[in-house]
Amino acid sequence: MHSNIIKKMNTSLNDAVHYSLNINKQDYFLNNLIGKRIKINWRGKVICQCNKIMSKFYRSGFCYNCFWNSPLASQSIFKPELCTAHLDIEERDLEWEKEFQLAPHYVYLANSSGIKVGITRSSQGVIRWMDQGASQAIILAEVPNRRFSGDIEVSIKKHVSDKTNWRKMLSGEPKYIDLVKIKSELSNYVPDDFKKYILEDNTVTEIKYPVS
Ligand SMILES: [Zn+2]
Repeated sequence: MHSNIIKKMNTSLNDAVHYSLNINKQDYFLNNLIGKRIKINWRGKVICQCNKIMSKFYRSGFCYNCFWNSPLASQSIFKPELCTAHLDIEERDLEWEKEFQLAPHYVYLANSSGIKVGITRSSQGVIRWMDQGASQAIILAEVPNRRFSGDIEVSIKKHVSDKTNWRKMLSGEPKYIDLVKIKSELSNYVPDDFKKYILEDNTVTEIKYPVS
């Protein structure tokens, strides 16, 4: 039996996605546990990024203080189209916001029980898709900051759903979607100022999961 503060599982892209969980600085390969009996006890505590320990979060995975004051919980975290660091305008902590927002971002289309449009830092692409359980993904645009990706997402979102139906996603083989064709259709809705960021590369990343 092990005991620790549990964080998000690590994922890596293989024939089927590999999952591992770090407990007390040791990685446990969880794919080997599929089909086996395991028992997890939760001690009834959660921990905020500021290390405060509580019986429940105030909102969105934060304590009261962080939710209202931390740059990690500012409005633009939930709505990228509100980012302003590229204009030198501070929300809560300009230095932190510049570091976070002024980096290359992707706008992508993913198939996770239907089409989803999303944004991610370009360094996080595949990890984000695996976390969302997407079976296919394609990059629609690559932009120099988070705000531009939010602006493109907003203009495209009206034409696709961004809700993932988890139950449908876990219920077996995902339906194949022609993402290249959908990318070409949705590209028409990208505002003219941003069309130069549409990626010509139409590589579709395919992801398989160890579902039994
Ligand atoms: Zn906190």
